[in-house]
Amino acid sequence: MSTDYTPPIRDIAFVLEHITDLAALSKFDGFEHADLETVRGALEEAGRFMAEVIAPTNRIGDEVGAVHDGDASVTTPEGFKDAYDKFVASGWGAVGYPAEAGGAGLPWLIGLAVQEMFTSANMAFSLGPMLTQSAVEALLFHGSDEQKAIYLDKLVSGEWTGTMVLTEPEAGSDVGALRSKAVRNDDGTYAITGTKIFITWGEHDLADNIIHMVLARTPDAPPGTKGISMFIVPKFLVNPDGSLGERNAFKAASLEHKLGIHASPTAVMNFEGATGYLVGDENQGMRYMFTMMNSARLSVGLQGLAISERAYQQAREYAQERRQGRAIGAAKTDHSPIIEHPDVRRMLMTIKAYNEAMRCVLYATAEAFDQANNAPDEATREAGQEYMDLLTPIAKGWCTDLGVEMTSLALQVHGGMGYVEETGVAQHYRDARIAPIYEGTNGIQAIDLVARKLPMRTGGAIQDLIGQMSALDGDLAEAGDDLASIRNSLSESVADLTAAVLWLAEHGVADPNDALAGATPFLRLMGTAVGGWYLARAALAAHRILGSGEGDSAFLESKITTARFYAEQLLPQTKGLLPMVTAGADQLFEVPADQL
Ligand SMILES: Cc1cc2nc3c(=O)[nH]c(=O)nc-3n(C[C@H](O)[C@H](O)[C@H](O)COP(=O)(O)OP(=O)(O)OC[C@H]3O[C@@H](n4cnc5c(N)ncnc54)[C@H](O)[C@@H]3O)c2cc1C
Repeated sequence: MSTDYTPPIRDIAFVLEHITDLAALSKFDGFEHADLETVRGALEEAGRFMAEVIAPTNRIGDEVGAVHDGDASVTTPEGFKDAYDKFVASGWGAVGYPAEAGGAGLPWLIGLAVQEMFTSANMAFSLGPMLTQSAVEALLFHGSDEQKAIYLDKLVSGEWTGTMVLTEPEAGSDVGALRSKAVRNDDGTYAITGTKIFITWGEHDLADNIIHMVLARTPDAPPGTKGISMFIVPKFLVNPDGSLGERNAFKAASLEHKLGIHASPTAVMNFEGATGYLVGDENQGMRYMFTMMNSARLSVGLQGLAISERAYQQAREYAQERRQGRAIGAAKTDHSPIIEHPDVRRMLMTIKAYNEAMRCVLYATAEAFDQANNAPDEATREAGQEYMDLLTPIAKGWCTDLGVEMTSLALQVHGGMGYVEETGVAQHYRDARIAPIYEGTNGIQAIDLVARKLPMRTGGAIQDLIGQMSALDGDLAEAGDDLASIRNSLSESVADLTAAVLWLAEHGVADPNDALAGATPFLRLMGTAVGGWYLARAALAAHRILGSGEGDSAFLESKITTARFYAEQLLPQTKGLLPMVTAGADQLFEVPADQL
């Protein structure tokens, strides 16, 4: 029984080449060396590292977990420190950061591909560097030159780690309700006091220092989100010469006991007049958070794919080995491998198809991020920003919901052996379950999509996307019979998406509750349709290469077959989702709360 991980380099390279336009990104200043050949070599090396160094820590991470030592220190499972030191030395954490900040200066798209493999290898482990990424972005975009000089290099290299410290017992989805206090000291620093909960990698033994990015409120701040400021609160204060000084006045009081990601310490943090350094201006903390949110949400969305990919590989292997029953047509004496049963095939094809669709959606969103931040011309930057804003709730919400569903299917492929811990597939299901909750619950993602993203440019952004989806029809028609069912199914789903958008636009104004009631099914509908569009593009690309007589025909045929399966058997779900989007809120409130 294997829990090995094989980096899906061919699938990743296919998306980079045929769904995103890596060649165009490599023309941006600073990205010159991001040609496919170089990138592929780098990804192969990164994949080897993740499979050989990180993946073997996954099981012990789950079984032993991070442990609070009672004295406010936290010990990670055996092997983590060694693997982390190697991770820092390898530089794989710094791939997508700008060269001037100590990174490799590759597009974020490539950073995301490395992150996919890291997350598949060990999701709980990958969360430390993922949160560090958020701290890096906060500093890059909003830190002073002095703050950048002190913290940036060490965070980018991974020598120090970072956290995001928002949540309080009374402030979860409603960040504006937070009460932690920041009182200005005479020397310009701030004294931070308050209790924060659920802080990922809030305390650990992997790095010499932990840089917490804490949201708190100054005494005269306005209420709600307008009165939140952001502070750098290092575990150890940093001396002017860069050496570590005294321990700051806060501690991790305890760790949560959780369903999954056991190796990721989730800390309750008590700040007791801790020294904090203001980032940017007072009362702008929420604005700064929004800058980082897109990339953080994309990284969490990626967890849905990464964990589903890992579980899929395990289920596929199990289905080839496990023999039960006799498949139709098999010799009477044989027990067939369960992969020969249609129902097991359906499960595996479903996971494979969703994984491929998710990868397209996520990587395309990362490409938009690169366009928004690095394109030489304003028009491409604006278009990239808009596309990223529109797709982020899909990348986060759709992919993490699917992460849970697909890991559940992978567990189902294992039968009873999936439910017991021995095979390890149950861990993926448990680990996957957090992703729809943190970084803005998926309910909040759906509201963001319907209430903020659809109205962008008075509906222009979503209409442009629908226009692009419809425009594929001509190319699919030219491809002939081979892609005919994809063409038909996509055109029906685009019609469902259009109808849903129109309904929300009309009813959202008349009664916002009606639009909010349909938000989650709408997110699902849009994710399903956009995923189908991307897979249709993948099928077209494979069809063209096959037509030119080049490429690995078995691989390319399987791309087309997978897209056809998605189009014929998964994409039609949009039709069933439409009535849920357009049902309005009345029925939801008909049963009184005390009768629910
Ligand atoms: C393992 C783990 C790690 C975490 N890591 C971090 C971290 O590093 N830093 C950090 O600051 N926080 C972290 N969090 C906190 C996480 O971001 C919050 O748990 C999350 O935002 C949800 O907040 P809540 O738990 O208070 O749930 P609530 O806000 O109480 O939500 C409960 C339910 O109500 C729904 N809901 C709430 N408000 C609305 C609304 N207006 N409209 C519709 N539905 C609504 C939600 O969607 C959800 O289904 C972590 C949490 C966990 C469990």
